Amino acid sequence: MDMRWENFIGGGYRPASRGLYFEDLNPATGNLVAQVARSGSEDLQWAIDSAKEAFGSWSKTSPEARAGILYRIGEGLVLREEEFALAETLDTGKPIAFSRSVDIPRAAANFRFFAAAATQFASEAHEMPGRAINYTLRQPVGIVGCIAPWNLPLYLMSWKIAPALAAGNCVVAKPSEFSPVTAAMLGEVCNEAGLPPGVLSILQGFGSEIGEAIVDHPDVKAISFTGGTQTGARIASRTAPAFKKISLELGGKNPCIVFADCDYPRTLREIERLAFSNSGQICLCGSRILVEQSIYERLSADLVNAATQLHPADPLDPATRMGALISEPHLQKVHGYVEQARSEGGRILCGGQRLPGAGAFYPPTLIDGLGPEAACNREEIFGPVATLQPFATEEEALELANHSAYGLAATLWTENLSRAHRMASALQTGIVWVNTWLLRDLRTPFGGVKHSGTGREGGWEAMRFFTEPKNVCINFGPRNA
Ligand code: NAD
Repeated sequence: MDMRWENFIGGGYRPASRGLYFEDLNPATGNLVAQVARSGSEDLQWAIDSAKEAFGSWSKTSPEARAGILYRIGEGLVLREEEFALAETLDTGKPIAFSRSVDIPRAAANFRFFAAAATQFASEAHEMPGRAINYTLRQPVGIVGCIAPWNLPLYLMSWKIAPALAAGNCVVAKPSEFSPVTAAMLGEVCNEAGLPPGVLSILQGFGSEIGEAIVDHPDVKAISFTGGTQTGARIASRTAPAFKKISLELGGKNPCIVFADCDYPRTLREIERLAFSNSGQICLCGSRILVEQSIYERLSADLVNAATQLHPADPLDPATRMGALISEPHLQKVHGYVEQARSEGGRILCGGQRLPGAGAFYPPTLIDGLGPEAACNREEIFGPVATLQPFATEEEALELANHSAYGLAATLWTENLSRAHRMASALQTGIVWVNTWLLRDLRTPFGGVKHSGTGREGGWEAMRFFTEPKNVCINFGPRNA
């Protein structure tokens, strides 16, 4: 693997204008993965200039030609899947099995999905009989900024880049400074697939430097952002005066609501997955497990048993199911919440102490005895820490579930169909899963309400975000009508 990654601009790799680099570390070992370009506003201006040059012809390229290129990018990722999976694991400390089965296949699927979408997304026409015809053009927005987090690096970056390119935009993308490598490698795949120079630039660096520069640049007309709620709020306030389009996919504090009439063995298996996958570092992970009183003791005992068998281990071992957290400071933040839970009277049922030795390893941690106002029930921890709370009635479950500033996703575990419909309708979230978790049809809208963000990604929602509708009304009635 290369030890130095530059920015990808104008179809080539270009050193950062200020000659600065930052260190990309492997959180499982503390070892250096790569030196990475630390971009500033001059790098951004190069990217903008090359995007401006490319936009004229890219925006007029036929949907079929764009689709062909996107499809080949997806295929290129499949061909180099092992190399990309390894890079993702070294950057983030996630299990190689997860990178191989989730991150990279899904990034490839995103490109192939939006390749097909490019050819299917069509103008609408509305006839006013005998008078006029309206048609609505969907034109690319122009140059768009795509900013992604570190938890599912290429998966989430491709979820933005692919629809933006499919719709005919030029993209300036910024991966997280904690997970820069797969985005950097993507430039090579794009070149091999025939993406014209300048259509996509990948700028590396810090959010406070190059991230903000992208958000503020007057030629960047839309920002698609996934990350923390505070960062999202900052982006919203900085883009508001310029009326930029924004799509913000932010944090969550997702309830997992378990009724006594659930399919118990399946529910138990799935709760372990939804609480601890990727060490709880998925915005959709369930972190508040609400359990009907009559099965509370049994389920907490079984969950503790399952969690204690999940040992964080070497991410490069194919048998490992739980790896490291993204960084030492993040581990300290996660542990700080556990300490706070202790001081607020919570009972640590399992976990709650970092693993000895090097690397940011933290075990699955379950906490009960906390009220809804405790920090662990209100704030996003983004680690392998979940709380358990009992409820007596459906109404109480709903009240607890909706008692949150966030509104991303909820899961419901019940065999009662009427209850599932009632609850799904009343939950204040953008996504509800019933008897499943993380089952995604790429055509469906994805996103949250309240402090979990604004706008939706996925399917036509993404194609709509990355286009401007223009209505054309043509009068064909009698000359004086
Ligand atoms: P973050 O907000 O710190 O950073 C996200 C990205 O924004 C990074 O690339 C970062 O460099 C950049 N950034 C930081 N400050 C910026 C600024 N002022 N202007 C522009 N860009 C800036 O988030 P993170 O720690 O990387 O990711 C974790 C967060 O992401 C969690 O809150 C998680 O819930 C959220 N997330 C949400 C979703 C979703 O779909 N809703 C998916 C994954 C992660």
